[in-house]
Amino acid sequence: MAALNRREWLRTSSLAAFGLGLTLPSMANEEGITRNFGSDTSLINLGSNENPYGISPLARKAIVDMFPDANRYQFNVPSIRSFREPLANHFGLSANQILITAGSGEALSLLARHFSKGNIVLATPTFGILGNSAKKLDTKLIEVPLTEEKVHDLPAMMRAINDQTQLVYIVNPANPTGTIVPTETLRNFCIEAAKKTVVLIDEAYVDFLDDSRNASMMGLLRDQPNIVIVRTFSKIHGMAGLRVGFVAGHPSLIQKLEENYFSSTQYTVSNLTIAAALASLGDKEHARSSREKNAAAREFTQNTLRELGQLYIPSSTNFIFFKLKNYSGDFARAMLAKNIVLRSSSYPDGKWCRVSIGTMQEMQQFAKVIKTDIRL
Ligand code: PLP
Repeated sequence: MAALNRREWLRTSSLAAFGLGLTLPSMANEEGITRNFGSDTSLINLGSNENPYGISPLARKAIVDMFPDANRYQFNVPSIRSFREPLANHFGLSANQILITAGSGEALSLLARHFSKGNIVLATPTFGILGNSAKKLDTKLIEVPLTEEKVHDLPAMMRAINDQTQLVYIVNPANPTGTIVPTETLRNFCIEAAKKTVVLIDEAYVDFLDDSRNASMMGLLRDQPNIVIVRTFSKIHGMAGLRVGFVAGHPSLIQKLEENYFSSTQYTVSNLTIAAALASLGDKEHARSSREKNAAAREFTQNTLRELGQLYIPSSTNFIFFKLKNYSGDFARAMLAKNIVLRSSSYPDGKWCRVSIGTMQEMQQFAKVIKTDIRL
């Protein structure tokens, strides 16, 4: 595809993808996002919440070491034959509580299929794959607006549960807003709501929180059959293109998911990807340095927005949600014209932008563009 057409395609898909939970294909190679940083023609992708620092060196080595076994099915490769065990052990679970999927997006659409007979309670706005998959199956969605602070309104979500509710979906930390629910409050909500229905927690961004905050609900899985968690390797692990995530839940649910949907597709995740995921879990340094660099670039970006008098929602993730209070045009389009890909959309309370946190250099370029070119 010619560069111009490609650019045009990116522009339209970028606009169409916002709010739908779709991600843009990486333009890194064709458009030189990382290689030609700073040149006038390069694009900076701040639209998909990826890790700009790449995969762990240990994961990279694991992929190379696995190449000779790329011709084998995973059950014929001794080192990954029982991959569920180390994966589960890492999270304090047992192997029968884990189902690996090709990214957590696949896990979400499969869960939407499994829980399609009643209604689903979820926030609005929230990450789109579960809701969009459910809509296609004519499952009713009960959408509960976020609070004014853009946090999940747990009391309202609890009230919204009725006897037809199959699933309550909480994204913590939340997308697109980057907010978190206090851990104790969420734990209590899970325990109470799980008495009535299944609670699904999407922990895609949980690794951006300091370990000490221990915000994951994994600890509840041991004795709560109605709690399900989805995780991805696309974010802090930097493996969005390798496609791996998993569902963690009670063995009875995992078994049902497997029986119903996975018996013919259980090998969708490649040997190379499994090896990389296991290696990445062992690379604490990669996660720590990604978290730290993200926090520094996020602080810089939040300070820039504050200096400009923009209302932003303090972020716990690798993206920031801010209000375009005086901007009357199409912000995402205007930024794309300046070679920066991000998402903006209108909500009942006005226009908002979600910008992913790239490298410090990328965020400096973002700051320069919004200050001097766009004049926010
Ligand atoms: N859940 C949330 C909250 C996300 O933001 C994303 C991707 O952006 C996903 C799930 C899906 O990620 P993947 O399919 O790459 O694992």
